Amino acid sequence: MSNSKLSADSIRSIAHEVGFDLVRFGPASPGDHAQRFNEWLDAGRHGEMDYLVKNRDRIVDPQQWRPGVRSSISVAVDYSGPQGELQGGGRIARYAVGRDYHRWLGKRITKLRNQLEHAGLPHGSMTGGTDAVPVLERALAVRSGIGFLAKSSMVISPTHGPYLQLAELLVPEDLPHDAAASGTCGSCTACLDACPTDAIVAPFQVDSRRCLSYTTIEQRGFVDHDLREAQGEWLFGCDICLEVCPFTSKSKRRDVLGIDRPKDLQTHQVVETWTLVDVLEMDEERYNAEFVGTAMRRAKRSGMRRNAATVLGNRREESALPALVAALGDEDPVVRGHSAWAIGRIDARHPSLQSALAKEGDDRVRKELQLAIERA
Ligand code: SF4
Ligand code: SF4
Repeated sequence: MSNSKLSADSIRSIAHEVGFDLVRFGPASPGDHAQRFNEWLDAGRHGEMDYLVKNRDRIVDPQQWRPGVRSSISVAVDYSGPQGELQGGGRIARYAVGRDYHRWLGKRITKLRNQLEHAGLPHGSMTGGTDAVPVLERALAVRSGIGFLAKSSMVISPTHGPYLQLAELLVPEDLPHDAAASGTCGSCTACLDACPTDAIVAPFQVDSRRCLSYTTIEQRGFVDHDLREAQGEWLFGCDICLEVCPFTSKSKRRDVLGIDRPKDLQTHQVVETWTLVDVLEMDEERYNAEFVGTAMRRAKRSGMRRNAATVLGNRREESALPALVAALGDEDPVVRGHSAWAIGRIDARHPSLQSALAKEGDDRVRKELQLAIERA
């Protein structure tokens, strides 16, 4: 290391003590991953995530927002574990089963920065975070040797598998860059074959607009009918391309359960105790009181209720009909529309559809009601 008072080994050791499973050093720029990102944006595959377009220049060139950064301390936590599911159904992507990773990962990054400053790196010289900062996190992780870029577009560690929470600290030090990670997807196409929406349009290229991790979380409003059906049991996110990946056998916390799991990864009480009907029926007060500290807030209350209606419809959950019928009178047109769709799948002759149609004033919801009735 040319200009740091700290040895690379000391930095690694501090980062491991803070709670990161993997610690690697690499350049503070995305290299040729920037071109892939630009092409992805130009093709519109980011959907409604306009903040990516807005921040494009800073994302592809960290010097534009943090002049002088020279290296990335890339870190990762293996969050593998049992699948998340509400009481009676409704699957949740593993990364969202525990506490909101923005909080616990952000705290660890802050702690790492504080400890590195305490150990000798200049105060205020480091910047970083989780996916809330404008960097190509996966590119930095790959260039640092955390893992290799997989056909699913995820980063896979040859030693810890694909369930990785990534973060980074960009520093003005010249740290010795680690070697690229070994491993490739080889001839495997399991994730492309298993994706229920064909969102992996080609190896290394995911069209967010078709990906359930986007449609159930980032997308606001109505979801296309074919994507609702493909959503199946997924209430929030989707893990299918990770579950089928042979590298999951490398994940270290797959079988670490209950209180044996790190506190931040232990199951949130919403996941442990709620049902899909609870989610559909939750009012603003309950949402604010009980959805505290979960990454599922990203989908907003409207998105979670919409998703719950969709999954109830996919499950043909007759016991949920009273809740779905009540939701036809909800103030949120997205919830009304998706509830109509769900009722149409459970019982298209249900009289509530006709009576709601007689009163409905929103054209999008009227269309949903008409299509639900036509299923009879
Ligand atoms: S998260 Fe699900 S929908 Fe998205 S690419 Fe992976 S398998 Fe497909
Ligand atoms: S499932 Fe196969 S192709 Fe997909 S990311 Fe894993 S190894 Fe690569």
